[in-house]
Amino acid sequence: MTQRVISFHYTLTGANGQTLDSSAGQDPMSFMEGAGQIIPGLEKELLGLKVNEKKTMMIAAADAYGEYDQRFVVEIPLEDLPNDKVKVGDQFQAGEDPDSHPFVVTEVTKTHAMLDANHPLAGMDLTFAVELISIRPATEEELAHGHAHGSDGTTKH
Ligand code: ZN
Repeated sequence: MTQRVISFHYTLTGANGQTLDSSAGQDPMSFMEGAGQIIPGLEKELLGLKVNEKKTMMIAAADAYGEYDQRFVVEIPLEDLPNDKVKVGDQFQAGEDPDSHPFVVTEVTKTHAMLDANHPLAGMDLTFAVELISIRPATEEELAHGHAHGSDGTTKH
């Protein structure tokens, strides 16, 4: 059986009901099943929906972006950073992998900076309100790339 590409609209809210992210007014989000493109808890729920079906679901941190991990927080001497005017909120990519989470500067002292590589949504229980838009077989190109190319398969990567 060929893998499918599922497209959906979503609104993501945090524990206090604040909207964190939404696809409203944009193209729907698309993913290829089994490719690890979206968080596992959300993929599992979406695979159980039919086209046009809506559902609101709570996904615990462990099935979303993971628990907050203190090991991803490191203290680096300022002279080891790529620029000498770092400030809180700056981001650094570690290594060559474009998919790795950037480190975010969370604190700067006279000598050191604290860098945090946790996903910004790590440790948060998330509520997703989703609407399933379409389900179609993955194209040859998507299968070769291992990810979805938008809701109609034409977005280039
Ligand atoms: Zn691609």
